[in-house]
Amino acid sequence: NSDSKYDYIVVGGGTSGLVVANRLSEKENINVLVIEAGGSVYNNPNVTDTLGYGKAFGTDIDWAYKTTEQEHGGGIVQTVRAGKALGGTSTINGMVYLRAQTAQIDAWEAAGNKGWNWKNLFPYFKKGEQFQSPEKYSFLDGSGVTYDPAYHGFNGPLKVGWSSTQLNDGLAQKMNTTYKNLDVPVQFNKDPNGGDMIGYSLYPKTVDSELNIREDAARAYYYPYQNRTNLHVWLNTHANKLTWKDGKDVTADGVEVTLSNGTTTVVKASREVILAAGSLKSPVLLELSGVGNPDILSKYGIDTKLNIPTVGENLQDQMNNGLQFDAKTSYNMSADYVSYPSAAQLFPNHTAVGNELLRKLPAYAAKVASANGNVTSARDLQRFFKIQWDLIFKSGIPVAEILLEPSGTTYDTEYWGSVPFSRGNVHLSSADPTAAAIIDPKYFMLDFDLHAQVEAARFIREIFKTEPFASMSGDETSPGLSSVAASAGDEGWSDFIKQNYRSNFHPISTTAMLPKEVGGVVDTSLKVYGTSNVRVVDASVIPFQVCGHLQSTIYAVAERAADIIKKQL
Ligand code: FAD
Repeated sequence: NSDSKYDYIVVGGGTSGLVVANRLSEKENINVLVIEAGGSVYNNPNVTDTLGYGKAFGTDIDWAYKTTEQEHGGGIVQTVRAGKALGGTSTINGMVYLRAQTAQIDAWEAAGNKGWNWKNLFPYFKKGEQFQSPEKYSFLDGSGVTYDPAYHGFNGPLKVGWSSTQLNDGLAQKMNTTYKNLDVPVQFNKDPNGGDMIGYSLYPKTVDSELNIREDAARAYYYPYQNRTNLHVWLNTHANKLTWKDGKDVTADGVEVTLSNGTTTVVKASREVILAAGSLKSPVLLELSGVGNPDILSKYGIDTKLNIPTVGENLQDQMNNGLQFDAKTSYNMSADYVSYPSAAQLFPNHTAVGNELLRKLPAYAAKVASANGNVTSARDLQRFFKIQWDLIFKSGIPVAEILLEPSGTTYDTEYWGSVPFSRGNVHLSSADPTAAAIIDPKYFMLDFDLHAQVEAARFIREIFKTEPFASMSGDETSPGLSSVAASAGDEGWSDFIKQNYRSNFHPISTTAMLPKEVGGVVDTSLKVYGTSNVRVVDASVIPFQVCGHLQSTIYAVAERAADIIKKQL
């Protein structure tokens, strides 16, 4: 009941929140409460069905956040999906389990986050993982899946592997030959989860291979532990804002919540409040609590408790497009084949592209800074952009992701530039905690982002022109050569890309972990600067976009955060 007092309150029972709640409640004398706006989806077929991607979209377990009209992105309002359920977005995501490139995580440290590098994070990827070795499952014979045991954890809560619907008819091997036959070949990568992602791979998913059901944060980190008497979850409970202790220090003493029966009350925390409401909610909860940019807060009559003007800034997402081709075979099993080309593989003239981009970085930084009223400085942004440039053109991180999915008599592809430079923001629109936030990712604000999207589309056309794939596929049905000619440049592709993209659903960095003087909101222990006991542990703290998919990195960051918090007990 709401009169009780908890040691820790975790706001948001999603991907990150349940990791932290689980690990903290391993200490029997510590009482943890999770506040979750959604309900249980344990028996929801839209969640459990491993072939059901998309079925939950637009249902009551999808926040379906709306962006502003995207000025540079075709004037379109985009829907950014996110799970509203115990398990959060892990209950509706694509289940792809792909980590980041070593150099990308090392860049977190280079940007000023001491101790946050690949070497230190790698054990936490493994700690959370319960890898299900494919050789145990005969349905994977012929599927082509491979792995390196050194990269995996086998004793963690989160099941990772392949499902019984994985296609095993030799298509994977034909893809491999096709990639090798490209003018600029892409080599097979046996296991992209060890920090080197470049190449073509058959990646694992968050799935229970035995039962063929989705593995999500609740199934991994909550349900098997729900009998712990010190682990509490309030479902269908909306967190409105933090409450503060009187006094000089900025110390949270609880959370104002609206319960499922409609009553609003305050629940008390004696140690800490941990925000894990996702990158489009955690910054807004800080603003509703008086932590943010005073110019924005005062518009809505909110007194500033702490002036941190970068709360809600640095929003980075990716843009997702697709090309479709006829398949000469009909497929009734599923598989997604991923390739991660480097800049040298994706851009025919990569040195020139790199040089041109380098020249543009000061202008890019000035544009982003001016768009957010200079709360992030052009100088700092330019430094971050140069780190990103070095990652692409010196460290050779993947510059795009290409997914190929056979489906019926179609080859679907999805693709995105891995590390767009555009940065937007998310801010509250009202002091009413149930009001929709103003979300502006500024898709396509900077022209390199369109260029990467164009080159990825061209690269896909090359794949379908290369044997053996060329003979296995028919016409390009979308956009089709009559709509975007084979010779089309960036301009020729622009309409198709900007009218047909969607959010890649990877928003991050809205309460970035960075030094305060360069715009950080949380420090390296994920504590909000200036507070004594408020942390953010979710996608919001990730300072730079990663090339893999977010969940693996988020699980690892949350595992590490839990250790950091426990060490301070
Ligand atoms: P979440 O998991 O979203 O958790 C936030 C939680 O807070 C939610 O449960 C929410 O209901 C709750 N909450 C929010 N506001 C409040 C409030 N005021 N009060 C109480 N509770 C609140 N990543 C991959 O790695 N692989 C994929 O295949 C993949 N596919 C994706 C497909 C889709 C459609 C989407 C949307 C995302 C996908 N992602 C994928 C991204 C990944 O799933 C997310 O980045 C990740 O799950 C986010 O974790 P989080 O902890 O930051 O937030």
